[in-house]
Amino acid sequence: MIEKSLIIDILQQHKNDCTRLMDILLDLHKIQNYMDKETISVLAEELDLSRAEIEETISFYHFFSLKPRGKYNIYLTDSITANMKNRKAILEAFERECGTKINNVTPDGLLGLYTTSCIGMNDQEPAAIINDVVFTNLTPYRVKELVKGMRAGEEIKDLIYENYGDGNNADPDVESMVSNNIRKKSIVLKKDYETYTFVKSGIKKYTPTEVIKEIENSNLRGRGGAGFPTGLKWRFGSQSQGEHRVIICNADEGEPGTFKDRVLLTEYPEMVFEGMTAAAYATGSDIGVLYLRYEYTYLLKFLKRILNEMRKKNFLGKNIGGIEGFDFDIRIQLGAGAYICGEESALIESMEGKRGEPRDKPPFPVEKGYLGYPTIVNNVETLVTAVKILQNGAKWYSGFGTNDSLGTKLLSISGDCKFPGIYEVEWGTPLTEVMEMCGAEDVQAIQVGGPSGMLVSLKDLSHLNSTQLMKWYKPSGMEVAERYIDRRLSYSDLPTGGSIIIFNNQRDLLGEVVMNFMEFFIEESCGSCSTCRNMPYVMKNKLQKILDGHGVKSDIEDLLSWGKTLKASRCGLGQTAGNPILSSIFNFRHLYEKHIQSLTEYDTVFNLENSVQTYQKFVHKEPVLFHLQ
Ligand code: SF4
Repeated sequence: MIEKSLIIDILQQHKNDCTRLMDILLDLHKIQNYMDKETISVLAEELDLSRAEIEETISFYHFFSLKPRGKYNIYLTDSITANMKNRKAILEAFERECGTKINNVTPDGLLGLYTTSCIGMNDQEPAAIINDVVFTNLTPYRVKELVKGMRAGEEIKDLIYENYGDGNNADPDVESMVSNNIRKKSIVLKKDYETYTFVKSGIKKYTPTEVIKEIENSNLRGRGGAGFPTGLKWRFGSQSQGEHRVIICNADEGEPGTFKDRVLLTEYPEMVFEGMTAAAYATGSDIGVLYLRYEYTYLLKFLKRILNEMRKKNFLGKNIGGIEGFDFDIRIQLGAGAYICGEESALIESMEGKRGEPRDKPPFPVEKGYLGYPTIVNNVETLVTAVKILQNGAKWYSGFGTNDSLGTKLLSISGDCKFPGIYEVEWGTPLTEVMEMCGAEDVQAIQVGGPSGMLVSLKDLSHLNSTQLMKWYKPSGMEVAERYIDRRLSYSDLPTGGSIIIFNNQRDLLGEVVMNFMEFFIEESCGSCSTCRNMPYVMKNKLQKILDGHGVKSDIEDLLSWGKTLKASRCGLGQTAGNPILSSIFNFRHLYEKHIQSLTEYDTVFNLENSVQTYQKFVHKEPVLFHLQ
């Protein structure tokens, strides 16, 4: 148990406020890497919560634990790109060197070995987080050296085996081997901007109403993936009544394959905070929170320093920029590892110290959000883009992109290409051009928008709705080939939050890629809707059945129908959890049909040999060779 006086100290630092339970647990985890029963009892008593309320928060997040973990805890990412870069060999090396299997702690309590979902390092996989330090480009040799260093009791930072990364990755408050890999800059990433211009002079030039108008005129849409008009969100927020109003920057970048917000936070933190300040000015907000995903803890000290510098210059605090009554400050809320917290209402629940379960809507956060106050949640890229718009004007911004998708988009590109990294492209850019930029060849498929997005080929039909698709698409073959058209990144064709993962023709799209994505959704569902809790699991099993050669024609129709049922789930996670299977059926149906050899309507063949092998695997017995004569 943690000493009671230490627990009381930490509680007092957080004013015994139960809505700050996340911070309290994060601080306690630094002292002891898990929460024991006695500590939980003290917390429950002091915070006037039940033990169950505290335990349900702890058990929800990947980086909290109710069981002892190691002195060093290794979290090896299970992203698809890590798997493509031979994660298997890295995992084997860790297991061998640590002398323990995954999800275990060594008997001496020194090393804990765990798997975790994408940690935002897709362009430098395989990667792992050990005690908040990120290690990229792992090799079996590097694993051996790391484990040797940990066994020798070395400081984890001293085990970094490469130079620090570029730009602010080498800042004394970061000192990380992570690389930015910025490959293409356009209007947002070009540093043709004097920091804090809006706070210094913009707030004197524009009234709050004019700021909202300018953002509305620019047609800026949320860059996190949903694409909600930013100006409208700010207007709604400004009109909602409450004792306080809140601006949240959603930096819980958890969509597998996305890492652009990590780069923005590293290289453009002033613009992120300035965007929050502009949003606060426009909407009359006084509370600001940056919700930072736990995986980016290595940026925390650096980001806090930037906030302190802003306070010293009166760009945060009271009467900002000399405007009487413009009071606004920003704190950083760390998450603790849960993809669902990227959903804005789940993120707010998490900020209030609870499980990150999405809320029923209405009311929407702009009406009743964090602690019941009107709350505007914006993505990191949205806020940075807003700053550029306020500098140059909505008219300037509308000169970029297409009619329905104005401006530019930051892409996080990874997978089978020569130059993975960050690319800023205009909306409307064809996928073929994107592939050319990043040096992708022999492309079989591209996952646009992460697992919740679409698996497409360079030219295909997935821009059509399912009724149109069914009309065109004949199960017998590729009769539509001549109708293929170029795909483009835009809200009317391929909308994306920015994740682009490329797979070449050597990849097993169903067994390797789609399976990984389905496992991701199964792992990350918060579990409160029965559809989302069960259906991805059932769909994955059906896909496995097809891959095992037991599939029948009706299995494909079942998958399509179950995918439709999933759309009735409460939040975006469940609604899109079937997309890896649905979009691969739409665009790569031939791969499914290849496995269903007979294309029969019914399961007429019972394969005794495979069934016996499966049974033996299940009961952990050595397989017995068994052949039907
Ligand atoms: Fe939770 Fe899934 Fe329901 Fe969303 S859809 S609330 S993640 S169970």
